This record gives sequence, C-alpha cells and structure tokens, in this order.
Amino acid sequence: MLNSSDSIHRLIAQLARLPGIGRKTAGRLAFHLLKVPREEAYELADAIRDLKERVGFCSICFNITEDDPCPVCRDSERRRDTICVVEEAMDLAALEKSEGYRGLYHVLGGRISPLDGIGPDDLKIKELLTRVDETIKEIIVATNPNVEGEATALYLSKLLKPLGVKITRIARGLPVGGDLEYADGMTLARALEGRQEIDQ
Ligand SMILES: [Zn+2]
Repeated sequence: MLNSSDSIHRLIAQLARLPGIGRKTAGRLAFHLLKVPREEAYELADAIRDLKERVGFCSICFNITEDDPCPVCRDSERRRDTICVVEEAMDLAALEKSEGYRGLYHVLGGRISPLDGIGPDDLKIKELLTRVDETIKEIIVATNPNVEGEATALYLSKLLKPLGVKITRIARGLPVGGDLEYADGMTLARALEGRQEIDQ
C-alpha cells in the first residue's frame, strides 16, 4: 500500500513529465495541490480525464473534436468542393478564426521531416487521397512556410496532380519560417486570398 509520501512522489514524477515543468516546479505544484480544497484538485483531475475520454479525432478530416464527424465536416453551409490541408488542428483553428475560409479541411498530423523520422506514412496522406473524388475542385495546401512545410506541399502536389484536381499553395505573405498558428487573422486571410496554383 502506498503511504502519503509515495502519493506525493508519484504526483511529482507525473507533473515533472509535462513540458516546461522541472522537478522543482513539480514539487511546488504537488504541495500546492495538497493544500487546496479537495473539489479544486478533483476538478483538475476530472478535466484531464474528460480530455482523454471525450476528445478524439474526426474520422473524416482528423480535426480535434468531441463529436465525430467534427462540426466543420457536419456544417452544411460550407463549400464541400474545396479542401484546405493543414499540418495540425491548431492551424485549422487559426484559419477558422481568420474567417477567410468557408470550405473543408484535412489535418495531416504533422509534416514530412526526415530528421525527426517522420515520413509520408506517418501522416494522414492516404486518408486525404481517398477524399479526393470528382466533387473536389480545389485543394489548398496550407502547410507552414518553412523548409519542411514546403517539402510536404511539393510532395502532396505530386501525389494529387494525377487526380485532376487544382492544387494551390497559400501566398507568401506569411513570415517565412513562421507558424500558421501564430499568424494574425488578417495575414492568414490575405495568404489564403492570394493563393497560387502549384505547377511543377
Ligand atoms: Zn472533420
């Protein structure tokens, strides 16, 4: 059976695994939680449990969602002939906030990055290809404007071109090497507006 100090050590060890939290901060947080009212500590535990139990991925676009399909895929007001491809669900959220786009999305779950051991098979690329049929008119590749994002865009355009769909890349108005996620809404909307067809 665990005694109280085992419980404390266990919590400290778990907290210390979180990014940006060292052992010292983990210790401080653990002792803080020891002192707060039971309800407050349980609320944190419940929030973490809910996150893992309720939030999953959309089986169509791989957006983060509590319902499958996600609200974007279910939205009948959106254009269904355009798919915007992004690296992460955070990028989708940023584009949605910019209000410059009213089509569908596809979340790759990352970008091709040989240095990190991430190849095409680690991303939702096959799933994207199965979505492209004659109803899809355009695919906007909105991977990040850095080396890996560009390489991923080129890879996708080579795969998609034979399917007879128009492939565009968001404009370069974005800060090079930057993250979509951190760009302001106006810049994102303009980058989408100024997208250009990829030709190789
Ligand atoms: Zn979806």
